[in-house]
Amino acid sequence: MSQSATGPARGAGFTSFTPPARILMGPGPSDVHERVLAAMARPTVGHLDPAFVAMMEELKELLRYAFQTSNAVTFPVSGPGSVGMETCFVNLVEPGDTVVVCRNGVFGGRMLENVTRCGGLPVVVDDDWGAPVSLDKVEEALRAHPEASLVGFVQAETSTGAHTDPRPLVALAHAHDCLAVVDAVTAVGGVPVGVDEWGADAVYTGTQKCLSCPPGLSPVTFGERAVARVKARTSPCQSWFMDLGLQLGYWASGSRTYHHTAPVNALYGLHEALLMLREEGLEAAWERHRRNHLLLAAGLEDLGLGLLVAEEHRLPQLNMVVVPEGVDEAAVRAHLLNEAGIEIGAGLGALAGKVWRVGLMGYASREENVSACLAALRAALAAQGRTV
Ligand SMILES: *Cc1c(COP(=O)(O)O)cnc(C)c1O
Repeated sequence: MSQSATGPARGAGFTSFTPPARILMGPGPSDVHERVLAAMARPTVGHLDPAFVAMMEELKELLRYAFQTSNAVTFPVSGPGSVGMETCFVNLVEPGDTVVVCRNGVFGGRMLENVTRCGGLPVVVDDDWGAPVSLDKVEEALRAHPEASLVGFVQAETSTGAHTDPRPLVALAHAHDCLAVVDAVTAVGGVPVGVDEWGADAVYTGTQKCLSCPPGLSPVTFGERAVARVKARTSPCQSWFMDLGLQLGYWASGSRTYHHTAPVNALYGLHEALLMLREEGLEAAWERHRRNHLLLAAGLEDLGLGLLVAEEHRLPQLNMVVVPEGVDEAAVRAHLLNEAGIEIGAGLGALAGKVWRVGLMGYASREENVSACLAALRAALAAQGRTV
């Protein structure tokens, strides 16, 4: 068929898209290193090609390092972090199951949505936005609901900048015969995550936060207890795509049957990003996030800007900056983007208009970014007549 039979000739005014130069300092995606971008630009091979399958095995091993686990069931689900979350809930919750859901921000709210849609009976433990999950309240909920079978919570609440220590919560869940599902989307690579040390049963993360990869993949890890729970289900998983048994048909070594076409080039990128994390070392990465956060916090103080979260619960990779009274917060964000190419995030939900979310995630967590952001904030505030 000739070109003219289907429409105007050639590009018809369209050209290739060239993204603007940006420094990504919002709640994700974060900056992606050249090496990861270069890896993704390599030729696509078949997703069952022996060379690709060998790469998949390495990828699982590298993910075990990032999660600090020896779980055999550790692999990236094809889909963003939300799909990792859903993979955990659709496999671990059956209709009628009681699930304790901790909600101290947007993402705990999403867990609740998941539980409800799986037919689970949620018991919600609410905490203030900006505060960590309260151990006492969870214990109270578990005592009141001895039939509960699962506890879900978010380690790094990206919507509020609060960090919850998973270790005591996982122990508490186990003491009440519950499995623990941990959202570590923004945690992995930025703050210590020790899946085996905690004994967490199912944990998911995302590629575009502290792993410095483009968005679109969600690594998950399931421990033995979680796998046993999935195998003991009396009803089929409500999702065909996220059914763990079917996913493992492709990801388990020695199996490799077609389930869906894996996002081959995206997986090259994740492999490279995890390789870079391994080269740097997890402890060094955590320390870099901590150091740059302290640098930013000190600079913000000089600008007369405060952080929302109490010091001991702050996430180094997500800084919730309180917008001063009378400042047009949207204008400040626009100034940063237009004058300095820096993207920061707005507040979500209850915090909309009240905070800026300044991310120092993964490759974006660098000293020069902290300096550039502080200088741009100073200029943006000065443009509104606020000099310090
Ligand atoms: C970003 C995020 C998600 C969702 O990830 P998407 O890739 O946007 O689907 C889930 N939980 C937390 C804590 C997040 O920060």
